[in-house]
Amino acid sequence: MLGGRSPVRPERVGIVVVYPRLLGLYGDRGNGIAVQHRAEARGIPTSLVEVEPGDPIPEQGDLYLVGGGEDRSMTAAARLLDAQAGLRRAVEAGAGCLAVCAGLQLLAREYVGHDGSVRPGLGLLDVTCGRLPGPRAVGEVVARSEIDGSALLGFENHQGDAVLGPLARPLGVVAVGRGNGHDRLEGARQGRVIGTYLHGPVLVRNPALADWLLAQAVGHDLAPLADARVERLRRERLRAAPTLRARRLRRG
Ligand code: GLN
Repeated sequence: MLGGRSPVRPERVGIVVVYPRLLGLYGDRGNGIAVQHRAEARGIPTSLVEVEPGDPIPEQGDLYLVGGGEDRSMTAAARLLDAQAGLRRAVEAGAGCLAVCAGLQLLAREYVGHDGSVRPGLGLLDVTCGRLPGPRAVGEVVARSEIDGSALLGFENHQGDAVLGPLARPLGVVAVGRGNGHDRLEGARQGRVIGTYLHGPVLVRNPALADWLLAQAVGHDLAPLADARVERLRRERLRAAPTLRARRLRRG
């Protein structure tokens, strides 16, 4: 809507992808394209801005997308985010945000940097990120969405964990994979902000999540939108998930 945050239908949904060159691991920049596609297919106009290091982050976007990154690019992104308030101001003013993996850690109250030091995050999620005990979490994830009960599918590759504070709720409950590494939870949500460890890109693999973010941005429910290719992809990914628990989710 670029200019206001009322729940009135915005004329154009402003999507801002934050530092895709630094935070675009495993195709995370595709989250912007996915949400734009699902809006435009319903006749909802959008603008998509990819902000690169050195550019100011606009404050008037409706939906901010922050991807994952290796430790060093994450540190570089953290420095940039500390130096400019665009993302923080927009989210504090009510914009939506999806933050994936390194993005989740950067939005948390604190996280552990590549040198092992505890660093302050932006504090936009009531989440504390440390290190997972044991090996790095790598592989397919299947979780049940706490938003709508759908199967949340994705790919994880991280050493960070996530402990939710009282203001944050889990995004999902893990059936396959590690997710946050505690209580079988995956990700966090707080108001219009969602954090997740899932790549995929997560909004391609999970159209229901893309639609939830979009509905928040436009301020009303959306007409259903079937996409046969995405459904095929989801069936294929669920078949690839190895355990009984996943099979149960597939049936339910
Ligand atoms: N470097 C962070 C970790 O290992 C984030 C990795 C990622 O974004 N995939 O936890």
